[in-house]
Amino acid sequence: MSLPAVQILQPRDVPLGGVRAMNVRRTLPHRERPLVGAWCFVDHYGPDTVGRGNEGGMDVAPHPHTGLSTVSWLFEGEIEHRDAAGVIGPVRPGEMNLMTSGHGISHSEVSTSNTTILHGVQLWVTLSLADRDGPRDFQHHTPEARPLDENGSTARVFIGELPNVDRSPVSTFSPLLGAQLDLAPGARIELEVDPVFEHAVLLDSGAVTVEGAALPVAGLGVLDPGRATLELEAGQEGARLILLGGEPFEEEVIMWWNFLGATHEEIVEAREQWQRREARFGHVPGYVGEVEWLPAPPMPRTRLKPRTRYLPEAPPAS
Ligand code: MN
Repeated sequence: MSLPAVQILQPRDVPLGGVRAMNVRRTLPHRERPLVGAWCFVDHYGPDTVGRGNEGGMDVAPHPHTGLSTVSWLFEGEIEHRDAAGVIGPVRPGEMNLMTSGHGISHSEVSTSNTTILHGVQLWVTLSLADRDGPRDFQHHTPEARPLDENGSTARVFIGELPNVDRSPVSTFSPLLGAQLDLAPGARIELEVDPVFEHAVLLDSGAVTVEGAALPVAGLGVLDPGRATLELEAGQEGARLILLGGEPFEEEVIMWWNFLGATHEEIVEAREQWQRREARFGHVPGYVGEVEWLPAPPMPRTRLKPRTRYLPEAPPAS
């Protein structure tokens, strides 16, 4: 049996945030692929120079989420997360912030004055319909760098498990994998993976082939289930990668702006509740910016369709 080739998803540039948008490179959702496991959103940004007064940095005013978890992971810089549950969570390189919205949350994300270069990823995980109205949650984890070979290649597993490498203590609502891989120059790694999972490899810097396919920078190489190993080969400058995986997510979920829900009506209701600043999303204490909160864009004239359709008219805020 021959497995299908690696699916390469090219990134697209998207402005992020409100008044002073920074540009990110987005690969999920993608017209050709809405999800990889329960991972439903992948943004890669930087390295961006950040000047005095956070010029060129991240400043995303309070905005809502429903039905998902967000992962913040940095290569350089520092971001301060504040949310309506009262969490003030800085995140630095090698540390993970995992926020779960439950039924509803709002948060802000601002690069701090310690930041001169901002460089990282933001990832979202869809919750199953059974879990989406649960409580809010926040977890922070700093994984160890575990060796992958004798030449200095390492893995930092922030979510899930890489067999014989490391396992993260972070709890998730569905089986997932998330890790940073740093491959030494010329490294050739045969990585043991869960054959039930779909996988995606994001190239941050350097050069790499996945199962023989070269990845573009900030692009994703996606692999269907059925593989017990992933073969990675770094170029002469080495490679920094993010590896994602998860069981195929079979439920139909609608994703629009920053909301995930089961039906068009649920999304409309969440939007109206946010616009009216209702208690469902709470209040983010201590955010100071040019706007107090990010209003939702208008709903499209057509009914929202489930996850198989990408809706470019309402790009997520972050
Ligand atoms: Mn957000």
